[in-house]
Amino acid sequence: MRDRIALIVAAGRGTRFGGPLPKQYLPFGDTTVLGAAAMALRPFMPVACVIHPDDLERYRSATAGLDLLPPVFGGPDRQASVRNGLEAFADNPPEHVLVHDAARPDLPAAVVRRILAALEAHDGAAPGLAVADTLKRVEDGRSVGTVSRDGLWRIQTPQAFRFAALLEAHRQAAPAAFSDDTALAEAAGLRIAVVQGDARLEKVTGPDDAARLSGPDIRTGHGFDVHRLVPGDSVTLCGVRIPHDKALSGHSDADVGMHALTDAILGALAEGDIGQHFPPSDPEWRGAASGIFLARAQEMAAARGARILHCDVTLVCEAPKISPHRAAMRAELARILALPVDRVSVKATTSEKLGFTGRGEGIAAQATATLALP
Ligand code: MG
Repeated sequence: MRDRIALIVAAGRGTRFGGPLPKQYLPFGDTTVLGAAAMALRPFMPVACVIHPDDLERYRSATAGLDLLPPVFGGPDRQASVRNGLEAFADNPPEHVLVHDAARPDLPAAVVRRILAALEAHDGAAPGLAVADTLKRVEDGRSVGTVSRDGLWRIQTPQAFRFAALLEAHRQAAPAAFSDDTALAEAAGLRIAVVQGDARLEKVTGPDDAARLSGPDIRTGHGFDVHRLVPGDSVTLCGVRIPHDKALSGHSDADVGMHALTDAILGALAEGDIGQHFPPSDPEWRGAASGIFLARAQEMAAARGARILHCDVTLVCEAPKISPHRAAMRAELARILALPVDRVSVKATTSEKLGFTGRGEGIAAQATATLALP
């Protein structure tokens, strides 16, 4: 006898949402909504999915490589589908069963541990969240009263039960009478514990939810730049002019820090490099303040719906000294990128008098930028 199994109820046709693809097969990160739900439970126990017979091919591609138990075909409604899933294991029953909605893909391991612990002392256990919003009774679009939310919880899945007790409750239950297994089990007299759920367990109801709940696409770009030092009276680094006995040579103001950071942002967007967008052959950029380039990269990120989360620039030179200007540099980069200063880092190092930076022949800069794409 197995200790426990999980049944993922995935037989719905998504009629409420109405799209051509049932919601459990929508993309979710680098998998599907169903694939994510199965992966969350698989470390804890064997998993079987209850699916619609028409979805067999979709199911196979959504769960390829996941090492699941054979799928079970569902019934006309959720209650019938769970019953089919339970009956499939009735001949060799596990001690416990978890029933989980496929449409709740973001399942924290801590929730699974809490319901399994609560099951030690109860017939069943489910995660829930205390209702935080004001509850109204509404008729014809008009509030006809406020309902006290004291003691009211929203119940989520997975829901865990003693297998034999839940199977018996299903066999005795009127068809299509219960919205979930805790309701059905309670009607059969079983005692259900409610443990702290998680807001991440929200149900996916359509493609927008799936995209939102699967989280942003986080990308890091890298940039590197060098400019030669020539006779002069100042250098501009990260937008700050610093008096010096040399100047940086280049087509624009030769601000290596700003150039490296611009390339890092373009890198995170996979949108080529600074030379491609601002060709040195173009007279428009002669002597240009490099803040223009950085601002343009920021606009390109915004146009893609991307958010710059953080950037980090390292300047490599023996002179001038960077530390007295670091705060001004961070403030200037943050201003151009419309970021809080604590998301902008500027660091400096020497190269121990080695190489072209050590000999004072040029200044180098490296940068990374971390972006969240939708
Ligand atoms: Mg450059």
